Amino acid sequence: MTEQSLPAVSFQGVTRRYGPVTAVSGVTLDIAKGEFFALLGSSGSGKTTLLMLLAGFEQPTEGRVLMAGTPITDVPPHRRSIGVVFQNYALFPHMTAAENIAYPLKMRGVGRSEREERVKAALSLVNLTDRGGSYPIQMSGGQQQRVALARSLVFGPDILLMDEPLGALDRRLRDQMQQELKRIQHELGITVIYVTHDQSEAMAMADRIGIMSGGELLQVANPETIYAAPSNHFVARFIGECSILRVVSLDGGTGYEIAGARQSLVSQENVPFDIVVRPESVSLFSVGDSQSTGIFAVPATIRDVTYLGSGWRVALELSDGQSLLANVMRGDLLAGSLEPGKSVNARWNPASVAVLPTEGSP
Ligand code: ADP
Ligand code: MG
Repeated sequence: MTEQSLPAVSFQGVTRRYGPVTAVSGVTLDIAKGEFFALLGSSGSGKTTLLMLLAGFEQPTEGRVLMAGTPITDVPPHRRSIGVVFQNYALFPHMTAAENIAYPLKMRGVGRSEREERVKAALSLVNLTDRGGSYPIQMSGGQQQRVALARSLVFGPDILLMDEPLGALDRRLRDQMQQELKRIQHELGITVIYVTHDQSEAMAMADRIGIMSGGELLQVANPETIYAAPSNHFVARFIGECSILRVVSLDGGTGYEIAGARQSLVSQENVPFDIVVRPESVSLFSVGDSQSTGIFAVPATIRDVTYLGSGWRVALELSDGQSLLANVMRGDLLAGSLEPGKSVNARWNPASVAVLPTEGSP
């Protein structure tokens, strides 16, 4: 393999245990050069540990980590060409922004004039050109985060690791910083591994997302695939809202039956399977509506209606007792007559259905 085509990072069967706790369990993953990769999972799923194993602050119990094809087991953190941004910024309070940013250069023995030049460029990169002389306490949370980002980039690392970097910022500032991070990544062409528990942040920013739970990497895919084709129940429930329905598969998995209604699938599936239906894929029709006769129509009763602003979220009970969520937009046929207890028919397009291997109770 040529140098160019080697993954920037490879985790090969990496496990990290702390006594009885397995923080990271058998993770195998390649991350390409220039990729923006999000590690997404709830608290305690092993995201930070995986980052620390790459940064070199932790060592694997089993397996190994490679950078550009070379094992880095014996390479100390400051030799790994990795910048790290921590959630709490970790700025030195007694140093100005410029001194904070200069610190990694000093540690690496970069001379004074080059240091000043690089600090200036880094301040400009994060739009803080005039704030070099400020101390952290004189800056807002967002500005401090920019200083931390500049400090992690100033020595020109190949890889940038960010651990829930925007978690402490309010929504508007977070949206703005997301845009800026993407701009900076494009400008530098750097590989980014970004830890978050916020699925919309991962969706908005990442080329690929890795979903972690209990130390394991459950699925790695681009955001569209994670949403449209989750590989198991956990991922389906973790990303967006959905209904997971138990169905009876028909004809070797070329279709299924639910509550007496039958639908053919786009591709043949292994049996048995459950189906994932997203609320925005469901349409509701009045019983007896000509649009819903003779076609796939699942009898249901409205149980609960929640106003969302853009429309309504409707909780339904199918005639076989399973639960289904549907979004009804303003202007939809039934928008004016959504009442608990009302009988309706629910429909969805077979192309919008994701199929999951059946596990436990749905
Ligand atoms: P996340 O960043 O996804 O919240 P972590 O990687 O911090 O998850 O933690 C994963 C699991 O490993 C948790 O159960 C945590 O308590 C445990 N853990 C992490 N670091 C240590 C440590 N230094 N000693 C003992 N247990 C740890
Ligand atoms: Mg963490």
